[in-house]
Amino acid sequence: MTSFDYDLFVIGAGSGGLAASKRAAAFGAKVAIAEGDLVGGTCVIRGCVPKKLMVYASHFSHFPHESAGYGWTIPAGTFDWTKLRESIQTEVMRLNKLHISFLEKTNVELISGFAKFVDAHTVAVGDRQFTAERILIAVGGEAAKPDLPGMEYAITSKEMFLLPKFPQRFAVIGGGYIGTEFAGIMHGLGAKATQIIRDRYILRGFDEDVRTNVQEGMVNHGINFHTCIDSSSLTITKNSDDSLTINFKDGSGSPQSLEVDAVLAATGRQPNLAPLNLAQAGIEIVNNAIAVKEDSCTNQPHIYAIGDCTNRVNLTPVAIAEGRAFADTVYGHTPRFISHTNIPSAVFSQPEAATVGLSEEQAKALYGDRVKVYKTKFRPMFYSLAGGEARTMMKLIVVGEEERVLGLHMVGKDAAEIIQGMSLVVTMGGCKKDLDNTMAMHPTAAEEFVTMR
Ligand code: NDP
Repeated sequence: MTSFDYDLFVIGAGSGGLAASKRAAAFGAKVAIAEGDLVGGTCVIRGCVPKKLMVYASHFSHFPHESAGYGWTIPAGTFDWTKLRESIQTEVMRLNKLHISFLEKTNVELISGFAKFVDAHTVAVGDRQFTAERILIAVGGEAAKPDLPGMEYAITSKEMFLLPKFPQRFAVIGGGYIGTEFAGIMHGLGAKATQIIRDRYILRGFDEDVRTNVQEGMVNHGINFHTCIDSSSLTITKNSDDSLTINFKDGSGSPQSLEVDAVLAATGRQPNLAPLNLAQAGIEIVNNAIAVKEDSCTNQPHIYAIGDCTNRVNLTPVAIAEGRAFADTVYGHTPRFISHTNIPSAVFSQPEAATVGLSEEQAKALYGDRVKVYKTKFRPMFYSLAGGEARTMMKLIVVGEEERVLGLHMVGKDAAEIIQGMSLVVTMGGCKKDLDNTMAMHPTAAEEFVTMR
């Protein structure tokens, strides 16, 4: 019988790789994990966690005017970018160390460096080689910039957290999660923020009411939009004072020009496969992602892949769930698969949006006129004294006589917290009557979901 250095070698210590390695080790497997960067991956180091801290930071600018109606006089403060950037990096380093300590506690060996395949059972990290009975690839993804003139001047979300200087004039190219979140953050921190998108509304693929309500809310906050642009016409040039000029044609074909201090390309992400030498192990790639079956197994029966490098649903909790399901199946002898439907997700935009299940458009395409929509839009109580234009939108999509809940959508304060709880109704196959039978909690915004008519 062949003997290997490890039962399992995990490539990539991000959310998915960490979860899988610790779970496999808990079942008694001898596990190593290779990471060429800080331990924690995109979510912890340069994604969800530092981003959410920046969202919190950006909210404080609303305090002076929101508190006035409540009797407070809070003078407009000043914002120190260097302080925020350093505080966030301190927290990131704390989390990095915490994840290293979790690996130590669970007897997972951390190997520093980027791993690449030598053959189907061997990986090299620097000049060391390791063999393993099974290999799990969890290398995540990286930002993808379009191939357009001057794109080298655009930063990606990775650099957003390390900017040496706060850009007073800031533009985002792209209308997805990242672009929409950073437009809100930078506006809240005091920048003149502009979002440049090639559709009429941001967040393509979300329910249309979510798209329009988030965008309307952002416009009301003072964020500028250029919509329906011809994305192939876009160029960026650098000026002598280090500012940047973005040129593009708008929806009517008219040339537009925008001068900014920084431009973020938030134009999607792609699996981070190039350094892996996947061909050495004969691993199949489809559409630039590692092809996997339902159990996350690649075309090689002992090599698995999870998370963004498989381009299924690119969200942290999904990678973690895929990693744990892999370990339970292979080392815990409890076969189980992850369902990739009805996954709740949030956009930490301002206003915030959260969603679970089908959009109205998807539901109608599947079930036609058997679909019924309940919708409400109101001013949250907080703003009755704080003033302003903020509105909350909630939407419930149901089907058939029994009114089974297919989708829930919300735009407004605490949308993510509320939809996380409400998503249970969709995953449990609940009906409108289950919501109706739930007593409201008053006064809350969430009570609208159980009192809709
Ligand atoms: P998305 O795929 O969400 O959005 C990409 C955006 O870029 C779209 O609006 C797209 O436009 C636009 N775009 C693409 N190419 C061009 C171009 N050449 N010119 C102009 N616009 C272009 O990618 P993101 O980078 O925003 O996010 C990547 C992933 O990260 C997400 O899929 C998500 O899984 C994850 N993420 C999740 C978060 C969360 O859960 N809160 C937060 C941040 C990221 P169009 O719509 O017209 O195609």
